Amino acid sequence: MIQYGKQDISWEDIEEVVKSLKSDYLTQGPKVFEFENMLKEVTTAKHAFAVNSATSALHIACLALGVSPGDYVWTSPITFVASANAALYCGAKIDFVDIDIKTYNMCAKALATKLKCAKESGNLPKVIIPVHLSGQSCDMQEIAKIARQYDIAIIEDASHCIGGTESNIPIGKCQYSDITVFSFHPVKIITTAEGGAAITNSDKLATKLELYRSHGVTRNPALMKKTPPASWYYEQIDLGFNYRLTDIQAALGCSQLRRLKSFIAQRHVLADRYDDILSNLPIITPHRKPESYSAFHLYIIRLDKEKTSINRNKLFEKMRADEIGVNLHYMPVYRQTYYEQFGFDPTDFPNSEEYFNTAITIPLHPNLATNDQNKVKASLERHLCQ
Ligand SMILES: *Cc1c(COP(=O)(O)O)cnc(C)c1O
Repeated sequence: MIQYGKQDISWEDIEEVVKSLKSDYLTQGPKVFEFENMLKEVTTAKHAFAVNSATSALHIACLALGVSPGDYVWTSPITFVASANAALYCGAKIDFVDIDIKTYNMCAKALATKLKCAKESGNLPKVIIPVHLSGQSCDMQEIAKIARQYDIAIIEDASHCIGGTESNIPIGKCQYSDITVFSFHPVKIITTAEGGAAITNSDKLATKLELYRSHGVTRNPALMKKTPPASWYYEQIDLGFNYRLTDIQAALGCSQLRRLKSFIAQRHVLADRYDDILSNLPIITPHRKPESYSAFHLYIIRLDKEKTSINRNKLFEKMRADEIGVNLHYMPVYRQTYYEQFGFDPTDFPNSEEYFNTAITIPLHPNLATNDQNKVKASLERHLCQ
């Protein structure tokens, strides 16, 4: 099976991990801080906190922004469930904003319309979570302009796109958001096995993120309510979690980050080649916003309904039978069984539905061979143009 995504582990990565295993620190230690400093360099943001997953990062980001029971959080339906689950962890309610049918990202126009209605009914969200699907940024400038009118906070779910830019601004700079979240799961751009990070420019949010990452406990006397009786003293001032990343994982992360640029460059070479060799098929290849440098986590194609009548699921199974590891990113979250209890109506999200019925992710990762790309093309051609 040609996998849709796959990590790239070098000998240097392995040596760094072994070095970490032989050092004094296994859990959060100097390597985690080195990794965080590198994340600050990549994003040019002020604060970076490494955690054990993007899901954890989303959770503490919501908490830091005060999301609590009774609040609403809005995200895109076309995302991994974690973007929405984070709100539920805080006891908040979730709602969705339909996508733009060209970029598959949260549609700024749909957001503006929905906010207007929400204001009238007194149901404005506290936080919105735009998701940069496949590695290409949402229109953050426009989204922020709209959200700021209502004093709504923004968390960017940038799980797909560390290393990407928008108008030459690195994703994660938080130019148009309060917090940005990255994932370092093995199929993503760089990996720490499991891992994630929360990035912010706000000192206030940074203090909270750091607390929530580790039990709500601080050793900083400036944050304590009481005078430390001796230097053994630490104080729990809030209820946090153990969401720490290990030094072993951070060692891998540091080593991987050194190859970030080349990983993405290689993804672009392969994506350009797909654009080329797939151009005559009855499919829609990824839309490239001219101001965007995508991290190209995913190469998502859609069936062009005007040119082919083949059913997506049928094509999917046929390609799997050809050993092509196609995938679907994603079924709309409101269609998940757990989410059915909230009573969403799919017809409220026509673009997400259209996307859902026509999308397929074809394999893309830095080590994908030219020959594998040719096999993907041949399989598509065989089933689409017979
Ligand atoms: C992978 C992913 C997550 C969750 O990342 P983990 O690090 O596995 O917790 C969240 N949101 C999106 C969009 C993702 O792709």
